[in-house]
Amino acid sequence: MSLFTTQKSRRVAQVSEENLIEIIVHSLGRACPPFPAGPGGDCAIIPQTEKARYRVSTIDSVIVGRHFDSSCSGKLAGRKLVERNLSDLAASGAKPKDALLSLMLGPNVDLDWLKEFAQAVGQSARRAGLRINGGDVCQIQAGQFSATLSVQGFSQRVLTRTTCRKDDRLFVTGELGGSRLGHHLNFRARISEGLWLANQKAVTACTDLSDGLLKDLPSLIGKKYDALVDLEKLPMRRAAHTIAQQSGRKAWQHALQDGEDYELLFCVKAKESSSFARKFKKHFPRTRLTEIGLIQVGQGLARDQKTHRPFSGKGFGHFA
Ligand SMILES: [Mg+2]
Repeated sequence: MSLFTTQKSRRVAQVSEENLIEIIVHSLGRACPPFPAGPGGDCAIIPQTEKARYRVSTIDSVIVGRHFDSSCSGKLAGRKLVERNLSDLAASGAKPKDALLSLMLGPNVDLDWLKEFAQAVGQSARRAGLRINGGDVCQIQAGQFSATLSVQGFSQRVLTRTTCRKDDRLFVTGELGGSRLGHHLNFRARISEGLWLANQKAVTACTDLSDGLLKDLPSLIGKKYDALVDLEKLPMRRAAHTIAQQSGRKAWQHALQDGEDYELLFCVKAKESSSFARKFKKHFPRTRLTEIGLIQVGQGLARDQKTHRPFSGKGFGHFA
């Protein structure tokens, strides 16, 4: 089943707006709390119960042709929408709580595809403790689809960018590169790891890798520091090697630049870095953790640890 249909009876335009909302809410399932905290009113009304110090919010979209193509299943597209947002909450060390979903649908969107999409959104949300409180549906031109999710979480201590210090060690979870061979549609945000990291005083700064290490690293360290990266230590996904064979470039270049890794990149105080790594591995025996470099006083550059030369090229940029 693909996103758009030529069969009249399968099109979303065949059902009324009220019915469409009912179908979506039903597919989201138990991720939707009952009214008034859930859909049904002008606004969702949510009692303030969280005692956490910070409320953390973010928003992200998936657009056909940009983040997935029209042959992609609703299941993978829906999951990607939620996990992309959750990855930003993870990078902040926040516990997922509430969300609003906005859908813009061409009239030829397949109703069954949309159901599968909403089911996947509901499942990913439930798994992370995220509730879909409401949202909006509107119709746009045929052949188009976009979905936006705004999410809120809570945190006692938030992880931030540009708060690292000289000599901090640089760590990354998981593996990097070659994401477009599948990982970009099939990943889970590092929510548990992010929550745990926020409780570790040794962790000084954190971000998630969405645009590629080369682009996300400068945004993590800020303008007063450089990061020295040991290329030999980069944890590379098998797909980075596969893609390198096709592109004629090196696998490490793909690990630096491809983007959509959705791993956590963070800094740890030098003195505590080895005890930190042991603790992490004990808590998350199945999450790969790699120390890939260190922080020095500088000017916001990512450099090769061996040659000290700044890396050339960039990660993924939407407007570059
Ligand atoms: Mg991010």
